[in-house]
Amino acid sequence: MLMTDYSVCPKCHQQSWRMMPFARYVIFLSALPVLVTLIVTFIVHPLFVLFVPVVLLLNMRAAKKRIRLGRCQACLYTGPCAS
Ligand SMILES: [Zn+2]
Repeated sequence: MLMTDYSVCPKCHQQSWRMMPFARYVIFLSALPVLVTLIVTFIVHPLFVLFVPVVLLLNMRAAKKRIRLGRCQACLYTGPCAS
C-alpha cells in the first residue's frame, strides 16, 4: 500500500487521487457516537464523558481495518481506494 498523498485515480487514471486523511476519517466515524455520548453525559451523568476516548479508540482501530475513502481532484470521483 502506497503511503503517498496522491496516487492514480481508478476512474480517470490521473495522478489526482487523494486519500482521506486518517485523522479526518476517525472524526468522520466518531462524530455521531461521540455526539450521542455527550448527550447522554448531559442527560444522565457526567461520568459518561469517559466513554468519549473509548469511542475514539474503537473507531481508530476500526479505521485501520476498513477500506479508506479517497477523492479524485480531476474528475471528482469519490470512492474506496483501488488497491
Ligand atoms: Zn479521476
